[in-house]
Amino acid sequence: MSEHSPQEIRAEALESLLVERGFLTGEDVDESIEVYSERVGPMNGARVVAKAWVDPDFRVRLLADATSAIEPFEFQGGEVQKLVVVENTPAVHNVVVCTLCSCYPWALLGLPPTWYKDPAYRSRIVREPRRVLVEFGLSVPDGKEVRVWDSSAEVRYLVLPERPAGTDDLDEAALAALVSREAMIGVAVL
Ligand code: FE
Repeated sequence: MSEHSPQEIRAEALESLLVERGFLTGEDVDESIEVYSERVGPMNGARVVAKAWVDPDFRVRLLADATSAIEPFEFQGGEVQKLVVVENTPAVHNVVVCTLCSCYPWALLGLPPTWYKDPAYRSRIVREPRRVLVEFGLSVPDGKEVRVWDSSAEVRYLVLPERPAGTDDLDEAALAALVSREAMIGVAVL
């Protein structure tokens, strides 16, 4: 009996076939795995958020045209043809979904969490966002508007969370360490 899961066996068979047919090399596969496990992840989005908090000009450019504003970071991972950054304020809370499938800003947040791909999240966050957010542990005050942004193959959204109080003394790197993936999707605040 094999100790490998059906998914592992399938992935290995697919890799062998692609290598055998000359579409890619074993090194290409290792390289991709390294990129997504070590260089692409929520730490990239967190760097963007921290910079927006400390650099007002960058914040303005980010909110106007995030795709070009983040070019200098040279993030890998693609999947961001057009990036739109939506800002949380005392009056507005933003949350992101892909109702159709699981579109997500990979280059900034890495691989999507399982719940993001769950049909229940994808349908309910649109119909009853406040209730779903409470299930994530986030209670949005009645007076605050909740905006839900539906991603697509063309447009990916990132939430710019509000900067936590009492962080005036922190530098950009220390601020980035405070920013969670959930806050950049909008199911949490900081
Ligand atoms: Fe999608």
